[in-house]
Parts: sequence; structure tokens; C-alpha cells
Amino acid sequence: MDRERFVLALDPPLATAAGPIREREGFLLTVDHAGMTGLGESTPLAGWTESLQTCREALDRAAAVAAALDWGVALGKTAVPAARHGLSLALAEARARAADDPLYRSLGGNRHVERVAVNATVGADTSPAETAERARMAQDAGFPCLKVKVGTRSVEDDVERVRAVRDAVDELGVRVDANGAWTVDQADRAVDALAALAVDYVEQPLPRDRLAATGDLRGRGVDIALDESLAAHAVTDVLDADAADVLVLKPMVLGGPDVAVAAAADCRAAGVDPVVSTTVDGVVARTAAVHVAATIPDVRPCGLATADRIVEDLAPDPAPVSDGAIAVPQAAGLGLGERP
Ligand SMILES: [Mg+2]
Repeated sequence: MDRERFVLALDPPLATAAGPIREREGFLLTVDHAGMTGLGESTPLAGWTESLQTCREALDRAAAVAAALDWGVALGKTAVPAARHGLSLALAEARARAADDPLYRSLGGNRHVERVAVNATVGADTSPAETAERARMAQDAGFPCLKVKVGTRSVEDDVERVRAVRDAVDELGVRVDANGAWTVDQADRAVDALAALAVDYVEQPLPRDRLAATGDLRGRGVDIALDESLAAHAVTDVLDADAADVLVLKPMVLGGPDVAVAAAADCRAAGVDPVVSTTVDGVVARTAAVHVAATIPDVRPCGLATADRIVEDLAPDPAPVSDGAIAVPQAAGLGLGERP
């Protein structure tokens, strides 16, 4: 296994509760397996995955014992998810290339998939008029769905922003992401108001550990989705808690594309809808997430339109967004036109 450190500048920076993220740092991995070289990417995001240093140490340990071990079992599923993601992806890509299959077919996707629909996103800092304008732009650009970030202003102000979107567009699906910002009282008010505005789902209304209280928000006219909670809890635990109607699966956070595909199947078996998104990764991990989404039949629009922030990526994007969707690469493996 070879690993190469990289740094990707983000513009605009990614706003988070812990402050703006101006760059994404990680490791590009190459693994020789099944007679082919596979590409993987480990781009840890502290708070969601292990730290960069822990990831690096895990990759070093894995490299030392790689020849003899099942990498996934050796690393565990959750302690170092970004490291496991990189290794698991590299092995999966090598296997797919050896079989001359696109990655999504090799991961278990059992039918041909041309495109995966994606959502547009508007940040939490826009006025109602600006939010409505972004919605019109998203609808004109062919997006099926807009995600409105909320939670940095009052619930009433955020509801006005969503109402402005509803008044401005008619065909666009709308989902709302609070990134865990609300109290139970705020979430109660928000869910009731947003249900009346035909919002598709409200994502992470409460902090990541409030699974039972999140479950209490279900069945009130709008679906409830969880995202950050999956960085703190196993998918099976969240499903067992009946906490959500939708789970946002981030392969980098779950520990690899194979884990994400299995989690999607677990979701469907539990009557929960899986959606796939990224942690704003480089082209290798982002394209892998597209392949993960392509394995899920009738997947809702996914959060995969995250390439724009990367100022200069690891390689050209084989799967750019066009008309609100991403064309799934059909060449062997990830299907990168140019390998980094
Ligand atoms: Mg989210």
C-alpha cells in the first residue's frame, strides 16, 4: 500500500458549528490487489471521523500487516472510519477493475444505473429573498431538490426562508438541515411549521445523541432524517431506536463504501430510506459515494454535489453534476478518466 498526503483548499469554506473549514486534508491510497491497482481515499473530518493523525497511524499499522489480514476486520468499523474507507475503497476498486466492472456493480448493484439525482444546497445565512432566488436558480438548473440549511437564526426566521422558497418554486423538493442546532422546544415548533410547507424531510433537528427525542418528532407530517447521529452511533442502533425515517449515509463516516452499501440494505429492511452524501471529499471518495448511491434502487436525491468547493481536485471529475444529476461512470472501477 502506498499513501500520499494531500490538501484540498475549499472556496467558499465549509461552515460548521466548530468554525469554518478552509481545507480538507487526507491520504490518497493505492493498493495492489487481485492483479490490479485500486485507488482509495481517506479524508478524515474531526468530529465526524477520527483525526488526521489517528487516521495516519491506523493506515501505517494496516500497511504493516496488510498482506496477512482482512483490512476491514483489522481496523474495525467505527474507530477509524476514514482510514478504513480508504483501504476498503482501494481494495474494492482493484476487485472491480480486475472484473472489468464499474465499482457500483462490483459493490452489489444488480442493475444498470445511468444517473443519480442530487440536491442543490443553500447555506443558513441567506435572507428569505436570497433563499428564494437560490431556489429559482436550482429549479432552473434542473435540480429535483433543494436543501436549506437552518439553525443559525430563530425558528420563525428559518420558517420564513422555507416559506419564501415554497412561494417561489413549485416543482422543487425541499429538505431542511438543522445540523443538530435545535432544542426539543425549537424542534417541536419547527417540525409543525415545516410540515405545513410540504418539506420532504427535516435533517438532524436535535444533537446527535438525542435519538429518543428525535424519534418523538416522527409522524407529525414531515419525515425526520439523521446524519450527525451516524458519526456517534452504529446504523443498527439508530434503526433499532426507531429514530428516523431517513438516514444520510456518508461512506467516509461509516467506514467505507462496502459498509455504506450494507447500511443502505439494513435501512430498507427497516423501512427507512437511505440517502448518500459526502464529507466534502476529493474526487476519489466523492466518485465512490456516487457508486454507493447507484447501488440503491430508487434512491432519493443525494448530497453528492460537493465538487464545487474544491479549488483544485486530485484529478478531473468523471462525474460532474448536470441537469440536477450525476452520470454514473460506467468504466471499470471508479471510472476516473485520469488517475491521480
Ligand atoms: Mg446533514
